[in-house]
Formats: sequence, C-alpha cells, structure tokens
Amino acid sequence: MTTHLQAKATLHNGVKMPWFGIGVFKVEEGAELVNAVKTALVHGYRSVDTAAIYGNEEGVGEGIRQGLQEAGLKREDIFVTSKVWNADLGYEETLKAFDMSLEKLGLDYLYLIHWPVEGKYIDAWRALETLYRNGRIKAIGVSNFQIHHLKHLMKETDIKPMINQVEYHPRLTQKELQAFCAEQGIQLEAWSPLMQGQLLDHPVLQEIAQKYGKSAAQVILRWDLQNGVITIPKSTKKHRIEENANVFDFELSAEDMKRIDDLNENLRVGPDPDNFDF
Ligand code: NDP
Repeated sequence: MTTHLQAKATLHNGVKMPWFGIGVFKVEEGAELVNAVKTALVHGYRSVDTAAIYGNEEGVGEGIRQGLQEAGLKREDIFVTSKVWNADLGYEETLKAFDMSLEKLGLDYLYLIHWPVEGKYIDAWRALETLYRNGRIKAIGVSNFQIHHLKHLMKETDIKPMINQVEYHPRLTQKELQAFCAEQGIQLEAWSPLMQGQLLDHPVLQEIAQKYGKSAAQVILRWDLQNGVITIPKSTKKHRIEENANVFDFELSAEDMKRIDDLNENLRVGPDPDNFDF
C-alpha cells in the first residue's frame, strides 16, 4: 500500500518506481521549470515525468541536479521518465532519440513510446528492447496504448512493457484497460490525473473533499493510488506541489471510491489513441 510519498510500485522486471511523481508538460525551459522540479525533490518527490516533445529535458535535468544537491540525495534516489516522440519512431531513429534525451537530461530511468503510431511502434519497441538489454535503461514502457495495441506489441516482440501511461481521471476511468494491464503485469500510470484542472470544482468531488478535510485535487490523487495507479500531477506552484503530495494521511472509503468511479463518462481531455493525426 502506498503509505508515503516515496513508496514504490514494483514493475514486472523488479525495478521499483515511485507511485507519485511530478509532471512537467507545457512547462517551458527556464527558472520556473528548474524551480518546480527542485521544489518537488526537496519536498520529497522522487519521480519526474518529461518527454522529448515537451522541449524541457535540459531544465528537468538541471532541476534534478539542484534538487539532489539541496536535499542531499544521490542520483539513484530519483526516478526519471522520458518518451520518444512520434517523428523519431523507428529502430535507428529511436536509438538516436534516446541518446539525445540522455544527453539533455543527463540521466534516464524509464523510456516510453509516447503514442502508438500505426506501422511504427513495433520497430521503435525493438529499439527500446535493445537499450534495455544493453543495460542503458532500467525500464521500458509505452504510453497511450489501448488493449489492441498492447496485444499487437506483445505478439510481435519479446519484452512486455513495464508501464502503460494513459489519460486517467474520474471522467475517464479506463476500467477495461486497467484490468487487462493488471492481468499482464503492466503497471498503469495516469497522465492528466487532474483532467488539467477541469475537475476540481465538481460537486461530488467537492463534497467528498470536505468530508475528509482535503482538496478535490488530493481526493483524486488519493483515488489514483487506492486504485493502484501511478500518478504524476503537474504543478509549478510551490503550494500545490506540496498540496498534491499530501495524500498519505487519509483513506477514501469503498463507498467514496465507488462514487468517484461513477463519475466516468469516457471523456478525454487529450487526443484519442485510436484517432490522432500527429
Ligand atoms: P494535470 O491533470 O496534472 O493538471 C495540471 C493542471 O492543474 C495545471 O494547470 C496546474 O496548474 C493545475 N493544478 C495542479 N495541481 C493543482 C491543485 N492542487 N489545485 C488546483 N490546480 C492544480 O495535467 P497534465 O496534463 O499536466 O498531466 C500531468 C502530467 O502527465 C504532465 O505534466 C505530463 O508529464 C504527463 N502527460 C503525459 C501525456 C502523454 O501523452 N503521455 C499527455 C499529457 C500529460 P499550476 O501549474 O498553475 O499549479
């Protein structure tokens, strides 16, 4: 059970990944980014999620270096995720993209295929397998893969993804995908867990939040953890970075978990993995 901010999930290859991390989508290179990452680490976060397409890997690397120093931590204490962008999918292209990410970040732990581009993700996965076999990366995974993408990938390649990072929040509870991933030992990870801030004034979430003396954001993030889903809320504000991580001192009842599950409308804030054109 996830009892504290540094608690870790064990991936199917035995590597341990924190249940909780900070995301940095749409945060541009610069002081705000470096400070957000540093603040998160100093506050106890041990995992950071970025991607090549975010264009901020250098600042993430810098924020981590500053955070490590300020918090007196070692490189091995931090888990970092990056993702290969669609334009770089392909065996040689993906190997090259990995080197670029590594150079910018200065470190890497988990590497994901960002989107399941038809006709391309199998070759890209073979590149991730090579990186993994050569010990260049601790874990490999995918993002935005539906069940049929996962089945196809597993049929054509050798190593099962350790992670599937997908849009996941009370409006999009992904029950079938989650059950399939659980069956396969693929750990589910939530992106846009707060639905990019659009869910926070929902009356049911507000009511539950009041009952526990918590915020709606904290209730949602706690719901992620109690569902066994890794979560990476984004904030650049110190008070929210702290607020979001303060979810280990209460437990939602089964009834409240169900009330939150029942908010599902299969509604996405991001693109549909079965129908995207980038
Ligand atoms: P989130 O659901 O994490 O929401 C972030 C938004 O909510 C920001 O506007 C933030 O504003 C605001 N916010 C954060 N905490 C609070 C709070 N406690 N109270 C009120 N508002 C709050 O959205 P993201 O899309 O950023 O998703 C999280 C991470 O997931 C990304 O940063 C990225 O790392 C990853 N991701 C991956 C994708 C993929 O395809 N694999 C796609 C999209 C995201 P502020 O910063 O001002 O606090």
